[in-house]
Amino acid sequence: MRYCLLILLYVAFLPAAAIELPDIGISANTVMSPADEQKLGENFIRQLRRQVFVIEDAQINNYINALGNRLASYSNKPEQKFNFFVIKDSSINAFAVPGGFVGIHSGLILKTHSESELASVVAHEISHVTQRHIARMIADSKRFSLPAMAVLIAAVLMAGAGNPEVGQAAAAAVMAGNVQMQINFTRTHETEADHIGMQILAKAGFEAHDMPSFFERLQAAGRYHQGVPDFLRTHPVTTDRIAEARVRAEKYPRQQKKDTPLYHLMKAKLLILTADNKHSLKKKLEKMLKTGRYRDERAIRYALALTLLATQQGDAVQTQIDWLFKNDADRIIYHLLKANLALLQNKFVKAMQVYEQALQAYPGDKMLGISYAEKLLQNNIAQKAKAVLLKIPSSSNPYYYHLLAKAYQATGAIATAHLTLANSYHLMGQTKLALEQIKLARQQQNRNSYLTSRIETRYKELTTQLLEEKMVSKY
Ligand SMILES: [Zn+2]
Repeated sequence: MRYCLLILLYVAFLPAAAIELPDIGISANTVMSPADEQKLGENFIRQLRRQVFVIEDAQINNYINALGNRLASYSNKPEQKFNFFVIKDSSINAFAVPGGFVGIHSGLILKTHSESELASVVAHEISHVTQRHIARMIADSKRFSLPAMAVLIAAVLMAGAGNPEVGQAAAAAVMAGNVQMQINFTRTHETEADHIGMQILAKAGFEAHDMPSFFERLQAAGRYHQGVPDFLRTHPVTTDRIAEARVRAEKYPRQQKKDTPLYHLMKAKLLILTADNKHSLKKKLEKMLKTGRYRDERAIRYALALTLLATQQGDAVQTQIDWLFKNDADRIIYHLLKANLALLQNKFVKAMQVYEQALQAYPGDKMLGISYAEKLLQNNIAQKAKAVLLKIPSSSNPYYYHLLAKAYQATGAIATAHLTLANSYHLMGQTKLALEQIKLARQQQNRNSYLTSRIETRYKELTTQLLEEKMVSKY
């Protein structure tokens, strides 16, 4: 990735003349415990959310986590926890950080021609994590706490991602703190990630040959178009490496693997989320349907329905909904289309019925619940919105807490509203704003001892964390 696959973050306390590279052969556990890795990863994603657009759409999240976890279950470390997320960024890139946090750019997903191609990149990133390529390179640092380390890693990534301000801040922190930090990738790690990634890919039933094919296509695209894709720059793919992967893939039989419908439907959603011009997208989709040039008809019709909703063409949306319900399985996303169409047509009661019925069929579903609660809150039906949100299993989605805080606020639970909004800010990496909400919660009079203790615990946690994060910027 322009962010690299491999972040070599080496914090040294040696005099400048004696700086040595970390010993890669060092026992991983002496560097960082798995629990610390997890904490680092969680802090990292919060920092990342502050700086880039992490897509929180439940359809996309569910898909990428299902795909990633399926692949991970075939790794040599099935107990490793993973968290996959998609970043709204048109560049072709992906990256992994300790704790099993794997980010994939929307640009890369949209560039894939098959689910196995996407799976090949995800499997490669999973291998960087299970082989602890990154964790092993983070030499033990007594100087930085984990939250501080997360800030630094995010800053280094952003420096590469064309955010010069953050990059300079990171550089200054590194210089002033006598910290040796570099981004690097080694050929050995890349080859190992390809090798192990391909084993995972094949074991999970995907097409191993799609790994070299995808890399090759990216390399060719770089040669004729806008330069080398970021993924290849950060995980340098040489002609040799592609050739090696080809030889390795020959060991596996061709799978004739068909893509799942969810892969195409997820790509359709991503296309809408990242399209700047819905009108031209609509024309493109209509043309595809007319000429039959598509891989999955239902995905094109689903994308078209979403585009028509965005451009407020209700009758045409209905045509697509009818086709989808008639020709495909029952899917939550189609019920959402129905509810949104009813709202577009100002049929509020009908929309509420659609949500209620769908929630009966799919109780506690996050995608449905969040969408329903959003509409309820827009219409000042806060009590119901709160009930719907509280039925969703625990979430690390900042928007979920944002809605829940609104519902608490509107139902008079002010202290709880501030506490909940603090959660939302915290997940967004806005520790200072989160702490301000906790201070507001402390000023509220009406609270029982349980709530008071939750507020005080959070106050302590966030105060400590903010101090640790600030330490970084002092260097
Ligand atoms: Zn790599």
